[in-house]
Parts: sequence; structure tokens; C-alpha cells
Amino acid sequence: MIRVRFAPSPTGPLHMGGLRTALYNYLLAKQCGGKFILRIEDTDQSRTVEYAENYIIESLKWLKIIPDEGFEASERDQYKQSKRREIYKEYAYQLIEKGFAYYAFDTPEELNEIRQRVQQPGKNWQYDSISRQYMKNSLTLPEDETKRLIEQGTPYVIRIKTERNQEVKINDLIRGPVIFNTNVLDDKILLKSDGMPTYHLANVVDDHLMNISHVIRGEEWLPSTPIHVLLYEYLGIKHKMPEFAHLPLLLRPDGNGKLSKRDGEKYGFPVFPLSIPSDNGTIVPGYRELGFLPEAFINVLALLGWNPGTEKEIYTMEELINDFSIEKVSKSGA
Ligand code: GLU
Repeated sequence: MIRVRFAPSPTGPLHMGGLRTALYNYLLAKQCGGKFILRIEDTDQSRTVEYAENYIIESLKWLKIIPDEGFEASERDQYKQSKRREIYKEYAYQLIEKGFAYYAFDTPEELNEIRQRVQQPGKNWQYDSISRQYMKNSLTLPEDETKRLIEQGTPYVIRIKTERNQEVKINDLIRGPVIFNTNVLDDKILLKSDGMPTYHLANVVDDHLMNISHVIRGEEWLPSTPIHVLLYEYLGIKHKMPEFAHLPLLLRPDGNGKLSKRDGEKYGFPVFPLSIPSDNGTIVPGYRELGFLPEAFINVLALLGWNPGTEKEIYTMEELINDFSIEKVSKSGA
């Protein structure tokens, strides 16, 4: 059974890129008689914007991209990560028990000190096995000391323990085989000191618990995928890992970099489906307010990076559902 999800973080209004991701997921689900799930990934509460969740719901409604789960107000909390935090904790502690994660007690000052010690010129500093040996964390602390610190209430985070010199491979449905070397990976935080999971842990646990068969998301998440693959492996659920498809970025009209929130004004076309409040308090109209028909907007979105290989220019939703195929999504930016 095909089960796909759209998993936006409510950090601002949903723009064309996010909607295209939602649409492609929806098309695949409908084509295969599968399910399309909406999941709100709001674990980074400092970046959560109040109106964003409603904006996501209204945009999907306008375009009639209606999820089968997580959409109705009555079931939305079950699919919202901030309401599921206790679930992720269990997985973080399970990883510690298995030796694939560890407590880290480092203060920001200590981290800074280590960074200065191990950072190579011109390179980003990584919190990895090289830095790890200098850290004041449970991997260098005796077990009883770790226990004592925790009992004392010393703040800690839980980090994944990545090993060096390993290869992680995925077979991306759009890009083909992609191989990562674990030397580029940080020991990412999985559980923050306030008990909230980070994106990586919550994303993998939920894709697993929600039985997601295909993860179709923007290319900006490709660098996170090896961490996710390791998590599936470490949690002993790799045999049930979903397939991955990373969609090419939406580019500016002149091809000069990634399309961003502010480009609408610069290039003179809206980037958002519905109107948004601008920084100076005025309202910037979206496609809906400008009088675009949802059907027309869906066409624009569908053909951004998907090439059906025919001359046909106008598709109904029905036709899109019939004709869509993930293999025909282009590898390069749209
Ligand atoms: N929460 C992520 C976002 O806001 C989604 C990443 C994913 O689909 O795995 O784009």
C-alpha cells in the first residue's frame, strides 16, 4: 500500500515549492489508491509562526489537495509532532541503550573551546568522533558520573553516534544511486535539553510509525538523508525504510539561485498561493487573490520540474493523477 506524506514545518507561509511537494505526493497516492498524509513538523518551536498551520490548511483546501489523514481538525493533533513528544523520547533512549547515541553535557562555552581546538581552516566544524574525544560527554565520562550528572539535573542533549569511514547508500527515485560518506556527518542532536526531538529523530520515527512507503520531499533534505538511513539502521527498522525521492529546487526565473520568499517582489510574480502579511504590515496578494483559478495554478505547479513528455499543456487534476510519474521529474532545478 502506497502511503506518502507532506510534512511541512509551520515556520512561515507555504510557498510554491512546498505546494508542489504536496501536489506530487497527492498525485502519487491517488494514482495508486494509496493514502496521502499531512503531518505538521513543529518541533522547532522557536521558529513556529502562529498563522502558518492554518495557511497550509487553507492553501491545500483552495487547491483541493485534500489529505486522507491529519487534515480534519479532530485528528490534527495526532499528526502534529509537538503533541507527540513523549513518543520520540522513547526512541532516543532506546538508541542510547543500544550504544548508537549518547548523552552530551557540553555547554556552549565548552563547545566553542573545542571548536577552536579542532576546526581546520576553511572547513566547517563538525561535532563528530574527532571532536567527541575532547568533549565533556558520556563517551569520555565514566558511567556513574553520567548517572550522577543526570540525577543532579545537569542539562544534556542526546546525540547520534556516527562512525567514520562508512558508506551510506540510497537509491533515489529521481536521482538514482546516491552514496554518502559518514565522514561528512555530524553527531546531530536527536533530543534537545528540553525534551523536544529534533527534525531528524521525529521525522524518522513518524515515517516509521505512520507506515510511510515513499518520502517525496525537496532536495534541500538530501544531505539529511544519510542521518535518517543510519537512524533506520540503528533502530533496527531498516528493512522497512521508505523509498526516497528528492525533488529539484525551484529556481529564480533567471536561474540564478534558489527561489526564495522575497523573490516575488523582485521578479514581479507571486510566490505564495494566498495573500500574506508583509514585513511592513501591508498585505501581499497571492495567486488566489489575484484571480487565478486553482486549476490553472495546479497546472503551473505540476509542470514545474515534471515533464510528461507530450505537447499537452493543460491538465485536469484527473489527467494529472493518471499521467504523473515520479521517474519523469527532472533532476535539475525548475
Ligand atoms: N519539515 C520539513 C520541511 O519543513 C520536511 C522534511 C521532509 O519532508 O522530510 O520542509
